[in-house]
Amino acid sequence: MKAPADANARRAIPPVICYPDTTLPRPDPAAMAAHRARLGPSDTVIVPPRDARCFRVPAGGAFRITCVEGPQVGDLNLWNANDLSERFYSGKTRALHGTHLTTGDRMWSVFPYLRPMATILQDTLDWYGIDAHGGSVHDVIGTRCDPYTNTLLGGDPYHHCCHSNLIRALASETGLPLAAAEAHVHDVLNVFMCTGFTRDTGQYFMKASPVRPGDYIEFIAEIPLLGALSACPGGDCSAEHSSDTAACYPLMVEVFAPPAGAPPWPEPQLNGYDGSHGLPNG
Ligand SMILES: [Zn+2]
Repeated sequence: MKAPADANARRAIPPVICYPDTTLPRPDPAAMAAHRARLGPSDTVIVPPRDARCFRVPAGGAFRITCVEGPQVGDLNLWNANDLSERFYSGKTRALHGTHLTTGDRMWSVFPYLRPMATILQDTLDWYGIDAHGGSVHDVIGTRCDPYTNTLLGGDPYHHCCHSNLIRALASETGLPLAAAEAHVHDVLNVFMCTGFTRDTGQYFMKASPVRPGDYIEFIAEIPLLGALSACPGGDCSAEHSSDTAACYPLMVEVFAPPAGAPPWPEPQLNGYDGSHGLPNG
């Protein structure tokens, strides 16, 4: 179509932040750090390359995901350990915090709960920022590699995409049949992955992760959590995923728990909306 006469003027309108975070409940970093110092190690889970494992974290506990042998990206799902219908909401987390998460940001749960599930306490890659390509680390813009998209795009059948890995891990942990477990697997936090959108075409891109052995990201569990982490078959995601081509490494998940006798953690309240959606009796 021919551009209107005022096209440039329309394009020049400055953007408005959709959700200014001035009223968003923010964690108190000093209080969180003091709380963290009282937690003790309670579990360690090694996630094998091209596979996934589950882990559980009590409310007020913490979990740390560490790169241990080589650059490796992880796909993270979170559920309320007592109710799988409350799960991580990647899209709203993106709207609230931006395309990539770092220290102080939170992972929010789906409607009607919409409350913090986890708060990022430490991120050793927080120095990375946004690079010249528009890339950054720990994104909530990708979904997860999966066998359906791989098939759609003409790939050979591949059964170790993160989607399938997460399904197998959740089914094994809960005893759910595979199809029931699949319905609970959701869009992820792409831990350690470096991604962005190309400036010229707006396409989703990935590039080699800057993560190195010893790097980690650590979260406080705001509610009791069941987590699942997949060590993506893309490895550092510098070239391709959905195949056995890339070099892949394990990831380590360490869980830290409050000491015996600690006061109960103040879990965030459920969202305050009344759920009536404008009808008298809801
Ligand atoms: Zn993946």
